[in-house]
Amino acid sequence: MIRKAVSLLESKIVIGLIICLGSIAIPNMINTINRAKANSCISNLRMIEKAKTMYALLSGAGDNAAVNIENLYPQYLKNRPLCPMKGKYSIYTAEIITEMPHCSFHSTVANGLPASTLGNLSDTRDRGNRV
Ligand SMILES: [Zn+2]
Repeated sequence: MIRKAVSLLESKIVIGLIICLGSIAIPNMINTINRAKANSCISNLRMIEKAKTMYALLSGAGDNAAVNIENLYPQYLKNRPLCPMKGKYSIYTAEIITEMPHCSFHSTVANGLPASTLGNLSDTRDRGNRV
């Protein structure tokens, strides 16, 4: 049986290709993971908003009433929502019922979508409410 050794040049070419493909694939994979976490955060914010609406309707609380997680959990929320990027939801402190819930990490805009899926930007939610 004849064994052919792999030359140094061949192994360098293979390692270079692996590094090149990794430099393309890894940033895309990280972006996909961050988008998935942002979508999970949006879903949590929508769930909080619906729970606040149900609470307001069923308890008869006025538009300026303060609400926090203790008012919503466990009657209107099955669990305490947590941001996958460890952002803090505004519902954990007192919040006015008519305010849109927001995340300290992702921020929100008027329609509940994050201003940025990658980081903490200024809260643009108020800009949308003035229209
Ligand atoms: Zn978040």
